[in-house]
Amino acid sequence: MCRGSLIVLPIKPPGMMRVVAVDLGATNTRASLLDDGGRVWKKIEAKTPAGGADPAILTGFLSGLIRRACGGSVPSGISGIGLSVAGPVDIRRGILLNPPNLPFRDVPLITMLSGELGVPVRMVNDCHAGLIGELTYGVARGRKNVAYITISTGIGGGVLTDGRILLGRDGNAAEIGHFHVDDTYNLTCGCGHSGHWEGYASGKHLPWFFAQWCHYHGKPHWGPDKAEDIFLSAREGDDDVMRFLGDLSRINARAVSDVIVAYDPELIVFDGSVIRSNADLLLPPMKDSVDHYLMVPDMLMTGLQGDAPLLGAGVIAGGYDTRFGDFMSRAL
Ligand SMILES: [Zn+2]
Repeated sequence: MCRGSLIVLPIKPPGMMRVVAVDLGATNTRASLLDDGGRVWKKIEAKTPAGGADPAILTGFLSGLIRRACGGSVPSGISGIGLSVAGPVDIRRGILLNPPNLPFRDVPLITMLSGELGVPVRMVNDCHAGLIGELTYGVARGRKNVAYITISTGIGGGVLTDGRILLGRDGNAAEIGHFHVDDTYNLTCGCGHSGHWEGYASGKHLPWFFAQWCHYHGKPHWGPDKAEDIFLSAREGDDDVMRFLGDLSRINARAVSDVIVAYDPELIVFDGSVIRSNADLLLPPMKDSVDHYLMVPDMLMTGLQGDAPLLGAGVIAGGYDTRFGDFMSRAL
């Protein structure tokens, strides 16, 4: 289950460690030791469990990963553990609810992990963590109105308006992957509804969108089962794939236009493995198709190499109390 590890920097003496950050993703999970300057001192990565609904499978996996990141056990100098979790979540009760891309339901992460590890545990959904990472260490520093959009296995968002992070009732505000973007291809999203952005443009759903697009337009379907194969064909100049990417870009622009009119951001930060690897193919045509109703914001790629959610988890590990929905804005 736990395979692959990446040591970023030599381990400092345990007494100087401050927090542990965990980024629980649909495909991979990472755990890191961070110091109070946000420097990553050790990073462990493993495949997220893909089978079995027992909450103990997930919490056992996470506690094992946290212990490995700490060199075997959680040292006494750790002040907290921060979780960035692929939602939806209930941050006030500390529960992972019903994520469309994970097999687990209603997992009381905070109670189980803090009880087992003896350290305070705090959590936010992964897009809010990514936003906090960008606001603290990335391109969003100093900005007051920001939308963070991640296009990865799924699609999600986190929004800062007037210097305050929108949390919503349970901590799931700006679940923009479930914006309705299309009625032509009628694809079903992982949440069970049709026409949602994530059901078209996420890494998990792109191959299905391409198959449906080929069927709809009478084009030969050559069976790519990974999003990256589609982008590779585009780079090789396949005309049909380039036309497909044109339609994909219009769908991406539909969703981003909705983000702009909903939140009026001055900056949109894009993150997530799909767009980080293919920003040259995805970003320019999407920008060209965005509605010009409100002032178009700056649109930038993250500069944190995929670490924004992990770094954001480190920030909340150091003191953010999720029982107070508005504490986050004051903490920033
Ligand atoms: Zn959906």
